[in-house]
Amino acid sequence: MAEVTVVGAGPVGMLLAGELARRGVEVDVLERRPEPGGGSRAIGVHAPVLAALEESGVTERLLAGAVRVRRGEARSRGRLLGVVRFDRLSTRFPYVATLPQAATEAVLAEGAPQPLRGAHVTALLARPDGVHLRAGVLGRPIERTSGLVVVASGAGGRDLVYRPGAVAVREYRDRYLMTDAETGPRADDEVAVVHLDRAGVLESFPLPGGRRRFVTWDPPGGDTDPAERTVRMRTALSERGEAVEPAAVSAFGVRRVVAPGMRNGRVFVIGDAAHEVSPIGGQGMNLGLLDAATLAPLLAEWVRSGRSPDTELSRWEKRRVASARAAARLAAVNTALGRALPRTIDAARRTGVRAMLAPPAGRLFAHAYAMGLDADA
Ligand SMILES: Cc1cc2nc3c(=O)[nH]c(=O)nc-3n(C[C@H](O)[C@H](O)[C@H](O)COP(=O)(O)OP(=O)(O)OC[C@H]3O[C@@H](n4cnc5c(N)ncnc54)[C@H](O)[C@@H]3O)c2cc1C
Repeated sequence: MAEVTVVGAGPVGMLLAGELARRGVEVDVLERRPEPGGGSRAIGVHAPVLAALEESGVTERLLAGAVRVRRGEARSRGRLLGVVRFDRLSTRFPYVATLPQAATEAVLAEGAPQPLRGAHVTALLARPDGVHLRAGVLGRPIERTSGLVVVASGAGGRDLVYRPGAVAVREYRDRYLMTDAETGPRADDEVAVVHLDRAGVLESFPLPGGRRRFVTWDPPGGDTDPAERTVRMRTALSERGEAVEPAAVSAFGVRRVVAPGMRNGRVFVIGDAAHEVSPIGGQGMNLGLLDAATLAPLLAEWVRSGRSPDTELSRWEKRRVASARAAARLAAVNTALGRALPRTIDAARRTGVRAMLAPPAGRLFAHAYAMGLDADA
């Protein structure tokens, strides 16, 4: 029987598994995908996560392949509205480290046990001395018992833990187009830029290797044909003066989910399985990584002593739920700010953003965007 079983080999599950293994805990990871997932999602790793992962050496390995973004700019109609100075925050890592999520996952996998792939967990049953798991491994049923189980399955495995309807899911109408494109060297190579115009937001974030991530608000009801999406992305880029040819353009929507609890006895839920926040704000993966980094020492202590550290675990749960709520509120503000607006309201938005980013409020926003509001920052 494994001391801890982790369901899901995404970034959050793999960080937890690595942190537990480093503390001498026997840990298994079950992952339904036969191969590591492709696709491009999170690109920013924030200061509190870099601080939390420093001791294990993960931070050094992440930074070796990342761009250090020390400054963000809000622009409108080609003019500067305000600046977000990450480099002026009093933190050990005064920047956002940007790298593709697949690269982050590869670094996390180095320190974690190999997941059992093709293992789809279908049920968890609480027993007095552990948790019974049912899974299908490449179509063959298996059963096993584990002392503790951590569900880090993303939205896909939420129903393993929560009853239907127990967790409110808010779907936003907003849709976005995204592309990671070659831009070559340019003056703002290490600057995150957010264009806010009547047509809505266009984000332009640096990536390693002379590339940038572009995300634009996409009007509702747009044609879902890939060629049509590419045309809309090309228009959004050229309207903001971005001389870039979009490569593969993907689309995504936005949901807001914050589960009221993250523990039931010997079962824990972390990462997107417990909370989803809008990618317009870039904190979803970071929130989950902090769930994992802060839970690992408590579970290791439970395994070592044979006694549940209930007081610490209940504090942990309160802090993580509060942090998810704070991130979800910030993401909701970002989502609202990024919509297309009529001319008069767009002018008010420009005035509001100028005021928001001017000192002293600007420092507060830099703090919030760098995840300074997280209870474990
Ligand atoms: C377009 C986009 C951009 C984003 N940008 C950012 C960003 O810049 N910064 C940021 O912090 N976040 C960002 N995010 C959010 C980030 O990608 C997620 O928060 C992060 O991937 C969550 O990690 P996770 O490990 O909790 O879940 P996942 O990455 O979803 O991994 C869960 C794993 O569990 C497996 N699984 C599911 N169910 C089961 C089961 N029953 N049995 C076994 N295995 C199972 C899945 O196959 C998967 O591999 C973005 C998201 C999107 C969509």
